[in-house]
Amino acid sequence: SGVRALAPYEPGKPISELRREYGVSDVIKLASNESPLGPSPKALAAAREAVAEVHRYPDGNAFELKARLAAQHGVAPECITLGNGSNDVLALIAQAFLGPDRESVFSRHAFAVYPIVTQAAGAVARVAPALGGDSGQPHGHDLAAMQGLIGERTRVVFVANPNNPTGTWVGEGALRRFIEQVPTDVLVVVDEAYFEYARALSDDIPDASRWLDEFPNLIVSRTFSKAYGLAGLRVGYALSHPDVADLLNRVRQPFNCNGVAQAAALAALDDAAHLERSIALNTEQLRLMEQELQRMGLAALPSAGNFLCFDVGGGAQSVNEGLLRAGVIVRPVGGYELPGYLRVSVGLPEENRRFLDTLDQLITAPA
Ligand code: PMP
Repeated sequence: SGVRALAPYEPGKPISELRREYGVSDVIKLASNESPLGPSPKALAAAREAVAEVHRYPDGNAFELKARLAAQHGVAPECITLGNGSNDVLALIAQAFLGPDRESVFSRHAFAVYPIVTQAAGAVARVAPALGGDSGQPHGHDLAAMQGLIGERTRVVFVANPNNPTGTWVGEGALRRFIEQVPTDVLVVVDEAYFEYARALSDDIPDASRWLDEFPNLIVSRTFSKAYGLAGLRVGYALSHPDVADLLNRVRQPFNCNGVAQAAALAALDDAAHLERSIALNTEQLRLMEQELQRMGLAALPSAGNFLCFDVGGGAQSVNEGLLRAGVIVRPVGGYELPGYLRVSVGLPEENRRFLDTLDQLITAPA
């Protein structure tokens, strides 16, 4: 069946596996674009408190969290669909709007979950060629090429802004013009998983949630996994026209977002200072890592996320192996058809230093 054709999603190597395989005890993981500062202490306290209620089902409609998110985005709570992480939201979109004889459109090198949810829904993925290496956003989304693939069977277009694993982004004007041109019976999903980091890194990152009133076929997805530091609790959400949210909520499992996660997310939204610290650390460290990679002669793609995708050419596999032996986990992105590239997440200053020093030694060591 179609399921056998699915290439499984490969998560970053867990720390325990590296300890076992290589016998390294002091391991750092810069492989899954997690927040090195972790969540707000207030979110952790709220989560601990909520654990006392785990014998009860969570609020399946997440009344409080939705009300808080609705106020934050200036939309009605009926515009929100909560997910078990934003991956769940992407799967709900595919389940509700794709299916046999239907197609999704996305860019080459786009987030790996788009093909998975498309194929799992029995639909066909149309993959647009990415921008060329000489463009300002090498390997980034070519919106004109994506537009060209939209046909009669297209129901969903995925735009990751910024994209993972490349880090590249599309600017406000270009994204707006793109959405204006997409037929109204095709949904445009703007995946803003890294939105909070992105806004601090580029002046030209749109907040697509502000356009919801204008485009009834727009879905914006966000997550608590990145800048809010709650990846392990799995909370993400979609913002859309209430009619779209109604359909998404019909296919949603009633208790897909657990009570501990809801409580933590709610408290995280109230700690603006912690969020600002996470963003500021990311901006500072990302810029430093960009400079250091450049100094080593390694080209990194422009990034508006909390990670950098850099080219080590033919040596990618051995460099990755060398990093692993030294206890540093990064992510080889050959599986995204970017052979030669490794992706490193921004960690704590001392972790980034260790990554950079180890990398420096590996690439300057005589073969
Ligand atoms: N979209 C993009 C572009 C991502 O990089 C990720 C995380 N890897 C997600 C969505 C999903 O994150 P989560 O399910 O943790 O919200």
